[in-house]
Amino acid sequence: MSDAAASTPSTHQPKPPLTLAELASFPVTSIKSVGPKRAKALAKVDITSVLDLLTHYPRRYIDRTRQAAIADLAVGEEGMILAEVDRVSSRRIRGNRTMVTATLVDATGRISLTFFNQPWRERQLVVGTQAVVYGKVDTYQGGKQMSNPVVDMVGDQTGKIVPVYPQSEKSGVSTGELGRWNTSALAKCAPRGFSDPVPVEILDRWNLLSREHAFNNIHNPETMDDAVMARDRLVFDELLRVQLELVQRKLHIERTSAGIEHLLEGTLVGEFHRQLPFELTAAQHRAIDEIERDLQSPKPMHRLLQGDVGSGKTLVAVSALLVAVQGQHQGAFMAPTEVLAEQHYLGVTELLKDFSVTDESTIFGDRPLRVELLTNRVSGSDRTKVLADLASGQVDIVIGTHALIQEKVDFKSLGVVVIDEQHRFGVEQRAALRDKNTSGLVPDVLVMTATPIPRTAAMTVYGDLDVSILDELPPGRTPIVTSWAKGPLDDALVWDQIRTEVAAGRQAYVVCPLIEISDKLEVRSAEETYDELSSGELRDLRLGLLHGRVTPAEKEATMSAFRAGDVDVLVATTVIEVGVDVPNATVMVIIDADRFGIAQLHQLRGRVGRGQHKSYCHLLADEVSNDGDERLSALVRTTDGFELAEVDLELRGEGTIMGERQKGQNDLKLASLRSDREWVERARGVAFELVDPQADLADYPELADELRLFLGETESDFLLKG
Ligand code: ADP
Ligand code: MG
Repeated sequence: MSDAAASTPSTHQPKPPLTLAELASFPVTSIKSVGPKRAKALAKVDITSVLDLLTHYPRRYIDRTRQAAIADLAVGEEGMILAEVDRVSSRRIRGNRTMVTATLVDATGRISLTFFNQPWRERQLVVGTQAVVYGKVDTYQGGKQMSNPVVDMVGDQTGKIVPVYPQSEKSGVSTGELGRWNTSALAKCAPRGFSDPVPVEILDRWNLLSREHAFNNIHNPETMDDAVMARDRLVFDELLRVQLELVQRKLHIERTSAGIEHLLEGTLVGEFHRQLPFELTAAQHRAIDEIERDLQSPKPMHRLLQGDVGSGKTLVAVSALLVAVQGQHQGAFMAPTEVLAEQHYLGVTELLKDFSVTDESTIFGDRPLRVELLTNRVSGSDRTKVLADLASGQVDIVIGTHALIQEKVDFKSLGVVVIDEQHRFGVEQRAALRDKNTSGLVPDVLVMTATPIPRTAAMTVYGDLDVSILDELPPGRTPIVTSWAKGPLDDALVWDQIRTEVAAGRQAYVVCPLIEISDKLEVRSAEETYDELSSGELRDLRLGLLHGRVTPAEKEATMSAFRAGDVDVLVATTVIEVGVDVPNATVMVIIDADRFGIAQLHQLRGRVGRGQHKSYCHLLADEVSNDGDERLSALVRTTDGFELAEVDLELRGEGTIMGERQKGQNDLKLASLRSDREWVERARGVAFELVDPQADLADYPELADELRLFLGETESDFLLKG
């Protein structure tokens, strides 16, 4: 019954090769040795179809021909062996705990394993079967021993190279079973073979195996080289699916929406640049050129502006808004929070205070350029007026939160939208933008982010956007000096320095420990830090306190006091992470710095070093983990956000970066954005070759099916939405 799908009544025609979609439709029970009970166990690890099984790839391989023998294990070091279980026993020890001991043997010797409080090990380690064991080797009563090692049961698998599958020990499915079932599944697929939707010339170009070969070799390689080649092909497929999705999305937007062809003839942008007290950096020039090219074109712009804190993104954004304004359109600037919106409002108003725009309805034919703030705090008649003037075109630039585009705010002609910090701006918001203009023309969108992402990671995470990068800081910045205070003596110097800087007229931030588990605890710890400092080390200074539980009004009052210089030291939680801009602040102290991730520390540090004064960042952390050590050392070593992003990727893997965007990209089981960089670029290139700008994947229906299969309905739904 269960394998009905696999064996539909045979016709006389040979069946075509198997597609992944078909493999997904066969339940695991269509494999002979998988009965209902095993199927249930597999379901616990999300394996329900034959495709799930085939894409449950080995996490490593044991090369029997070159495996370290027991005799080769070095005491005091980690080692791995493949050996046979000779004996296993279990007993109760003190504290009502169990201890399982086992002895493993190979041709060269024996080793004992001990496990504490893992009674199920006795059942796992079946006498006479093979196990791969990985752990630290020590000695016990003159013999070799490992305590609580990692164990993979390989069962009775033969062959030179033994695949070791990721297995959850509690589900009770062994790597040996997984290997056997995969072998049966592949044997069952053999008569029909695997369909391969990727054109042969592309496979040839990149020296890729056929899909059939790849699936066989990833599960049953003859040599380690086979496994590597197989992995390349499957990695390519994973990355190609993501890129096809992103490239389709990008081309779809370009094809289905008409943008505004902005005119570059006006004088506003030029004037704006001329009156700045400094020269734009080469990177700013380059980004502005790229943006202007997009703005001129009839396709709506979807561009990401990536630049480290302090790289001068605001000027680039304002330049883009001015292109809209000089062509009689309007601009909107959206920030993730009200506080940030207010801050941008102050900044942009200052930058544009002496500018005027053409207005034929006035006697002089022009009027002052008008920038307005629109947040929830703008209410009553002020709000009514701003809304009316936006609709009539009397307001040129509006600054607010992301709610701006979701709410009923009408524009006369919205030309350019700048979105600061992209995380909360998704597909729906984009769709909302289409409805903003009565003309039906879609405004151009510039998304800004201060989170540096390595290039190939950006291609995967933001592949539907074009990217401009500000990889250069304005000249004359004195780099922030970062140091790591490892104990009370160092800490004392830190508080000393704050007093010295404040005496010289500067200001400082003290960031309190991050407590992820509880907002309440975090607030309390911030209050405690504030109390301690104001009655202790910093008692002669004026302190302010900011955390997630203060009311918006209090927050604003504290921020403006700090901005005005009426508060010397701002004690705060990470609420100050983004956007806070007080150039007079020169010291950043981060307490328990090892609790923060690299990106967060980098953002926090970016709050200082914004003026002409030399700035300092102190990371306070006495005892840290290995990982913490590498993070803090990296911060001390460099202020380059891209370099830090690479370290972060190295330490944490891609999960974190991928997590920020839609789930579909989590299809990466084998591919790594770190080690498979070149494959990301190749896959992207191929995606552009295969997707037809007018008709998506019409020429490759099987690939289109695979996208739906792997990336899910919600992802592909978007493509169908007009
Ligand atoms: P970001 O938003 O990228 O963190 P900002 O746009 O806020 O950076 O700019 C940081 C500071 O650098 C601002 O005070 C700005 O006036 C200044 N700045 C921007 N571009 C330049 C430049 N080319 N030369 C000198 N200073 C600049
Ligand atoms: Mg900024």
